[in-house]
Amino acid sequence: MSDGFSIGAVLQGQMIVDCPHCNETIDFNAERCRFCGHPVDRKAAQSAAELLAEISQACNAASHIASFVGISVAFSLLDFFSLLFIPFHNMLPGTALTGVLLFVPVLALRWKIRFGQIVSQYPDFRNARRTVTVSGIVGGLLLCFILFLSVLTLIRH
Ligand SMILES: [Zn+2]
Repeated sequence: MSDGFSIGAVLQGQMIVDCPHCNETIDFNAERCRFCGHPVDRKAAQSAAELLAEISQACNAASHIASFVGISVAFSLLDFFSLLFIPFHNMLPGTALTGVLLFVPVLALRWKIRFGQIVSQYPDFRNARRTVTVSGIVGGLLLCFILFLSVLTLIRH
């Protein structure tokens, strides 16, 4: 038998958790499970609620990192194509992006340190973890690519 609560979901601000006894979803604030009458363990429910809050923060932070990378990718592509069509185009936007992109691996690393040890099968959290890993890799590759293009541009000048 499971000894703790697992995360249910947050519905319209109401916190719900899974009853460890019968597995039905119940209100976090209830005294007893309304299905089997099992008393709700305040401490377990509290830590389940805290974990849920932590997970929702982790998901938010992950989507920020992802949109950061998405915007950077869009601008880099724009920059790359203008480089193809306008010879000796100066890499000014690219150079500015390099500075911005330097933050992506830092943000991804900070996320891993802060939320990396959370153990949860909650699908949103697993997605968030994957998003951060992919963002870190894409951001890092993009950074190398921009640095490479910048060096190339310098040589051509
Ligand atoms: Zn129950």
